[in-house]
Amino acid sequence: SGINEPSKDEEQPPPLAGANVMNVILVAAECAPFSKTGGLGDVAGALPKALARRGHRVMVVVPRYAEYEEAKDVGVRKRYKVAGQDMEVMYFHAYIDGVDFVFIDSPVFRHLSSNIYGGNRLDILKRMVLFCKAAVEVPWYVPCGGVCYGDGNLAFIANDWHTALLPVYLKAYYRDHGLMKYTRSVLVIHNIAHQGRGPVDDFSHVDLPGHYLDSFKLYDPVGGEHFNIFAAGLKAADRVLTVSHGYSWEVKTLEGGWGLHNIINENDWKFRGIVNGIDTKEWNPKFDIHLHSDDYTNYSLETLNVGKPQCKAALQKELGLPVRPDVPLIGFIGRLDHQKGVDLIAEAVPWMMGQDVQLVMLGTGRPDLEEVLRQMEHQYRDKARGWVGFSVKTAHRITAGADILLMPSRFEPCGLNQLYAMNYGTIPVVHAVGGLRDTVQQFDPYSETGLGWTFDSAEAGKLIHALGNCLLTYREYKESWEGLQRRGMTQDLSWDNAAEKYEEVLVAAKYQW
Ligand code: ADP
Repeated sequence: SGINEPSKDEEQPPPLAGANVMNVILVAAECAPFSKTGGLGDVAGALPKALARRGHRVMVVVPRYAEYEEAKDVGVRKRYKVAGQDMEVMYFHAYIDGVDFVFIDSPVFRHLSSNIYGGNRLDILKRMVLFCKAAVEVPWYVPCGGVCYGDGNLAFIANDWHTALLPVYLKAYYRDHGLMKYTRSVLVIHNIAHQGRGPVDDFSHVDLPGHYLDSFKLYDPVGGEHFNIFAAGLKAADRVLTVSHGYSWEVKTLEGGWGLHNIINENDWKFRGIVNGIDTKEWNPKFDIHLHSDDYTNYSLETLNVGKPQCKAALQKELGLPVRPDVPLIGFIGRLDHQKGVDLIAEAVPWMMGQDVQLVMLGTGRPDLEEVLRQMEHQYRDKARGWVGFSVKTAHRITAGADILLMPSRFEPCGLNQLYAMNYGTIPVVHAVGGLRDTVQQFDPYSETGLGWTFDSAEAGKLIHALGNCLLTYREYKESWEGLQRRGMTQDLSWDNAAEKYEEVLVAAKYQW
């Protein structure tokens, strides 16, 4: 072979299954379709299935916020002390798509479905303490298909601050005592802006030996000296992942680390970014169940030119907008907060409404931003809709029916809606930050490459400029538009790629001992 060819070894995929078959337990505060407030729920719902397809034995542990029909009581009862109070938990189990789902039941989780992170700081903290204490013991007490996982080649995947206590408990309760020696924990950062901060006194609620206090203590100019759960989790975890490359770099900066950048830099060696995939069954225009009924229709690359216009007309009709195929329909879906740049859209609305466009926004969150949506709809009845609410069905229908999706996020760890959009032939216009920068390559009309439009700072003027170019292409250059759609739809956005990378990390973490 030629001397310049890469060595064959580099091209080999990592070893799969065989000696490396793992027991993997993903622990999260939410998991779609059972519970979901955002991207974390989507990831917890999809990544485990992709890992299971690679041959591993995979479990998801999540609180039981409601009665889930599929899940049966396994008959095990355990008691845990939380902040001096004795609490009993029960475990429910379901085996779905090759994955064991274990739901931890306690009165403190019940009836929270629509308000997972509700309650005061201490309530939330106690819930998460109980959840993590129970979760770390699940491999010993909860039989799945008759057999407990045990600690054979076991890896935990914890997610965000809510479950950042799990790596700490694994260490303090087991590994410090020579137990579960080869069990490793990976902590995934989906959003570092939320950290489980509180007064240093909170340490008394987490039930850990005194020498662990220091790992929770953090000082920063905003919070002063405080108690920080994410900080302790980052230190205790064997590996840390962020949900995109861009974000793994950003969290190391003063601006993007939200006070944790020093700890992250000190632990740089265990960091890696892996871009989220998408659930290609759930978010696929070909199979999407939310397009089955009413005037909508499923479509694929082959039927794009018929199916997508039909979905657009259906959406216009459903929302009471003029049914016009030629008018560009712009969508936004997401939490209404500062992060998502909803105020930038609001600032750009007068300009947008001066164009021949339609605008549909779906979201819930900050009351003042919800009011912005209502106001906009009120003021521009013939062009704009502001849907205040959380509706998965509507999210799917907007993704299918819109031509353009706006994501002017100030920061975005990964962002899923731009990925969904591209899979549906909907062109993203995004602020080039975090995962958005990683996944949406700027359109270049000369080489006919790229996937959408990006702008380089979170300002309304920049958004308008990028959107203006996008609208021009939509109106004047149909072939370029179709090229954008085609490139977006033919990407492999599935979890299979990402799952392979997770597997590498989980395997590598095993060999550090
Ligand atoms: P984040 O996790 O920061 O909220 P992501 O883009 O990663 O943002 O994921 C958001 C997920 O939540 C997507 O699946 C999106 O469709 C969904 N979502 C957000 N707001 C709503 C809403 N109002 N109704 C339905 N789904 C929503």
